[in-house]
Parts: sequence; C-alpha cells; structure tokens
Amino acid sequence: MARDYYDILGVGKTATAEELKKAYRKLAVKYHPDKNPNNKEAEEKFKEAAEAYSVLSDPEKRQRYDQFGHEGLRQNGFGGGGFSGQGMSMDDIFSQFGSIFGDAFGGGFSSFFGGGAQQRSSNRGADLRVNLRLSLEDIYSGVKKQIKLNRYEPCSECHAAGGRGKRTCPVCHGSGEIRERVNSFFGQMISSKPCYQCQGQGVIVDQPCPVCRGEGRVRKDATVSIDVPPGVQDGNYMTIRSEGHAGPRDGSRGDLIVIFKESSHSVFTRSGNDVILSCMITWPQAVLGDEVEVPTLSGKVSFKINPGTEHGKIYRLRGKGMPHLHGNRYGDQLVQILIETPAHPERNEKNLIKELYQLYSDKKNIKIKKFTP
Ligand SMILES: [Zn+2]
Ligand SMILES: [Zn+2]
Repeated sequence: MARDYYDILGVGKTATAEELKKAYRKLAVKYHPDKNPNNKEAEEKFKEAAEAYSVLSDPEKRQRYDQFGHEGLRQNGFGGGGFSGQGMSMDDIFSQFGSIFGDAFGGGFSSFFGGGAQQRSSNRGADLRVNLRLSLEDIYSGVKKQIKLNRYEPCSECHAAGGRGKRTCPVCHGSGEIRERVNSFFGQMISSKPCYQCQGQGVIVDQPCPVCRGEGRVRKDATVSIDVPPGVQDGNYMTIRSEGHAGPRDGSRGDLIVIFKESSHSVFTRSGNDVILSCMITWPQAVLGDEVEVPTLSGKVSFKINPGTEHGKIYRLRGKGMPHLHGNRYGDQLVQILIETPAHPERNEKNLIKELYQLYSDKKNIKIKKFTP
C-alpha cells in the first residue's frame, strides 16, 4: 500500500506550493545519498519524498490525487510516461528537481552535493516534447502516426566523434568534474563543478569537425512513427525512449515526449469515456414515441424513443462511447432529446396545429417549475 503523499512530506492537505517546497527540501537534505552513503533506507526515503513532491507540486496531478488517490495517477499517462513511483531513478530526481534547490544553497543542487544529473548525464541529449493532434475517430480506433521532428542527429562527417585527436581531458582526467571540499551549514561536503577545460565532457578534441564544430551532432529533420492506443485523453502523454535529441559526441539520446491534443469534433462531445450528442425530434415523435437513428463512433445505431418523451431527456446507448485506455470496456453514448419547434410551418401543418391549439385551449394553464440549468 503506497503511503499518503501529504504524510510523506509531513504537510497538511491545504499546504501551499511554498510549504510543499520547503518540506521537500528539508527531507531531501536529510536523506540525500551523499550524506547517507550506502544507506538503503535513506535512499528509499529520498525517492519517496521526490515522488510525493513531483505529484503535489503539479496542480493537475495534485487535484487528481486529492480526488482519486494513487489510483487517479495510474490512470493517466502510460507506456512509461505516467508517474510510476519507485521507477524514478536518482538521475530523474536530480534532473527534475535540481532547480528547486538552487535558491536554497545559492548554487546547483547536484553540484553542491557532488554527483547528480549534470555530471552523470552530461553527454545525454535533451528530451524533445511535441504535441500530437488527434481526432476523436483516431482516438476511438487507435492510430499509427508519423511525427515529423527537427532534432540533433549524430554528425555523419566525423561519425559523432566531434573531430580528430579526441583525448581524455588532462584537467579532470575524464570525469568531467572538479571536486573540492567545502564547509557549510550541513558540515563538510564535497562540492563538484563541471570541468572548465572540457565543459564537463571529460574529453577534448584537438581538431574539431568543420561540419558540427566539434559537437559531434547536427540538426536534422526526422520522422518517428508512433502507435497511439485507443482511448487516450487530451493531455495524456507517451514517452518514447531514446527518440529525443542525440547527445554531443556520441552521447546517448534523450527521450521523445508526445503529448496528445484532442481536436474538437463537429458532432460529438466527449466526457471522459462517454460521448454526448443532441438529437432533434418533432413534437409528434415525442408524444407518440418513435424509432430514430443516430450516428455513433462505430456507425449508425437506432433506438426507441418512448411515448411521452420530454424535451431534454437523455437516452443512454450502452457501450457506444470511447474505449477505456486500460481494459477492453467502452463508455456509453448519451443522446439528449430536443424537441424541435417549426419556425415556418407549411400551410397544412399550420392548420393542424391551429386545431390542436383550439383543442388545448381549455387546458392552457401554465405550469411553473424551478429553473435547473
Ligand atoms: Zn562532425
Ligand atoms: Zn575536463
């Protein structure tokens, strides 16, 4: 059973962003691996706090968590994109939250403590985020999409080496960082900075490649194809490992994060896994009942309208909505019945309606009802 995120951070449910940040910073300092070497429990606590903070500091995730608990977070995002608790690595934590420590210590978090994302993955390319527009039909059936990107690719001129005469940096001996002891409020610690000679790369190139200017990578157009599963929602995202920017000098690739954007549909309105539609019928149909046909995402469906159907009544067509992202179930289609009032009735219609009017004249007592929007 996962622990409550508010309990982990030791804050109340109404904690402000500032309070959350403060609480997290305190725990992160306490349980930081550099202060607790080879302490598995401290590492778990450190990760746990990072997970709690990553959810509660994101207003959208926090709202979902408040409403649905841990379950609410599992339902959104998938395929590695969703937040999956202990799956968070130390590098993730540093790269995600490094900046919040900056103001506390007047310097980068990872550089203060030594180690961390900047050094460990200095050669990794950046992640790339793209929005992908999807129609409701695409989402209904699932779809294969080609995404055009412009990203860093390994330089073919120098085979990503960055040039000739590549050698280990003599200043940092390849580690990419320079360490020093500092005295601080927390006691003596090892501080490390990126090496000034090689800019944290650990290697230097004597004759840089003229095409990539020693970077070992160049901007190029690329196409990535992705399989969008049925049932995604606007704002869901998918992380495609190693399809982001190539890193400098044969560095590993960042990830590609595809964020889904749902286009509004001309007829259907989506509400979670349900689809809503309005259907205009005539007053005689409403009074006598009828069988009507409406479009659904899986083709036309006919259903019976009961005699005496009121304006605004909603019929539910089971299983005719959107597929659930997880599992094989489908939502419903809701059909709201609207009774059409003819603005320009034809002469014979008008005569019949006049007859009805006469017939109704003795029961024209207006009923008053409370307004419900
Ligand atoms: Zn090159
Ligand atoms: Zn160096």
